[in-house]
Amino acid sequence: MKITILGFFGGYPYNGQATSCYLVQSNGYNLLLDCGSGALLNLEKHIDPLKLDAVLLSHYHNDHIADIGVLQYYWQLNNLSIEGKVLPIYGHTLDKKHFADLTWAKATVGRAYDPNQKLSLGPFVISFLKTKHPVTAYAVRIEGTSDGKTFVFTADTDYIPELTDFARGADVLMTDTNYSANKKGPKWHMTSVESGKLAKDAAVKKLILTHLPQKIDFNLLLDEARKEAGTIEVEVAQIDKVVKC
Ligand SMILES: [Zn+2]
Ligand SMILES: [Zn+2]
Repeated sequence: MKITILGFFGGYPYNGQATSCYLVQSNGYNLLLDCGSGALLNLEKHIDPLKLDAVLLSHYHNDHIADIGVLQYYWQLNNLSIEGKVLPIYGHTLDKKHFADLTWAKATVGRAYDPNQKLSLGPFVISFLKTKHPVTAYAVRIEGTSDGKTFVFTADTDYIPELTDFARGADVLMTDTNYSANKKGPKWHMTSVESGKLAKDAAVKKLILTHLPQKIDFNLLLDEARKEAGTIEVEVAQIDKVVKC
């Protein structure tokens, strides 16, 4: 399994860098996980967007879906020679308006995922966990059927203990780390320390901090997460970073 980070900021793009988007590849299958603001430009650097096999959306906040519209235009305007082929975009159906927007004539079709069932997409089997967030959002656990590798993405969430079993033993865990340890008051994302704790409790092989804030030094987040994670390897997300497992 190969994961390429195409966007990692939470909230809005910044300093030329995009929000949440990851390309997950195995056995020639290309899955796009989230499609945030600025993501399409980065995707084009790695593959022709027409080569995507599916898109999977964790939730419908704009920093995760902003480039869906332009991805639909890309398919609409370049897809003319591929008779009848449309790109499936998987999302939940608890938000009818946003789900309906996933279908665009001659370009994309919205497909519902049932978070209580496993979803098979090419070489991946995907399971879901509802997170703690102001809108319905799902963490995803992506298991490779041919390579036996596991990638867990928390999506957007405050810390919840259920994430530990969900992330158990993952080869790669990417966590929503939008806050440093000193965050006070209500929150809808995890702190660096919570990300480190989750990685340690779930005994993952590698932790990558993502959904990063614009105004906090990433090295501070990294130091705080590393202290909590013990011997687990911890990295911070970067555009074009490739993680193989
Ligand atoms: Zn977000
Ligand atoms: Zn969100």
